[in-house]
Amino acid sequence: MEKSQETCPYKDKEITRYTTCSCFEGRRSILAIEPICWFCKYAKYDLNSDKLPKTGICRYPLSTND
Ligand code: SF4
Repeated sequence: MEKSQETCPYKDKEITRYTTCSCFEGRRSILAIEPICWFCKYAKYDLNSDKLPKTGICRYPLSTND
């Protein structure tokens, strides 16, 4: 299946840092060492907390950051 035809199974759903799927695309700003949501440009995490967020939301196909 072409990338453009893929639909992320986690779209608008809660994800962990370690969730992954075939729609993964790494952020440009960091070196993605694993194809997991933590490094994916579609993942949205609350980074204003003192602790590392355990969960976030998948915003596929909207890029949340680069
Ligand atoms: S954030 Fe990226 S890797 Fe994680 S479920 Fe969404 S598209 Fe897939």
